[in-house]
Amino acid sequence: MMTPDERFFGRVKKNAPNGCWLWKGPVNSRGYGLLGYGGRNKTILVHRYSYQRTREIPDGQQVLHKCGEKLCVNPKHLFAGDALASANNRRRLGTQPSGEQNGHARMTEDKVDEIRRLFAAGQHRVKAIARLFRFTESGVREIVNGVTWKITYGKYKDELEAVRKKLYHRLGPKEIDEIRRLYAAGGITQKGLAAQFEVSSNTVWQIVRKRRADVRP
Ligand SMILES: [Zn+2]
Repeated sequence: MMTPDERFFGRVKKNAPNGCWLWKGPVNSRGYGLLGYGGRNKTILVHRYSYQRTREIPDGQQVLHKCGEKLCVNPKHLFAGDALASANNRRRLGTQPSGEQNGHARMTEDKVDEIRRLFAAGQHRVKAIARLFRFTESGVREIVNGVTWKITYGKYKDELEAVRKKLYHRLGPKEIDEIRRLYAAGGITQKGLAAQFEVSSNTVWQIVRKRRADVRP
């Protein structure tokens, strides 16, 4: 019975210590290598296996390729990151169109999908996504709320609504009263309240003006 390490190294072609080590074993439908691991018919993505031989993969993070070669398992070419890091990496490698040369980012269906996917993953707020895509916050908000690009909204509708619901429920009537009370008492700015309650300054602005009691992402 071979150990996972023996199976791993038996199917890796090392070009040079610092070059890509290419996986010669089976791959999945997305082109990533698979290694038999942890029991009958069970597999692990081989680049994740390679990474975790020497380092722990932080919870919920992906293992990404600095080199852009999906089949590379050289641990020096791998790093862990979240969905935003993954999107950044793809942009850096040029595997995703950037198209902002003139400063006016043009949206494409791919980018819209990516924006919705990032937002639906629940880790990234509109502001961070807008910065990444060099697009306006209001533009991103319209995309994640399905105001624009309605045609493809259905694909991520459930996830997006779940995230919005989570954000919405962050502030109950009690917190909203508390925000109004603290603001009326003075000594704290709207910006300070926004930081304290983890909502946007715009949300606080609307709450203190009693415009609305709900929360926008
Ligand atoms: Zn590589």
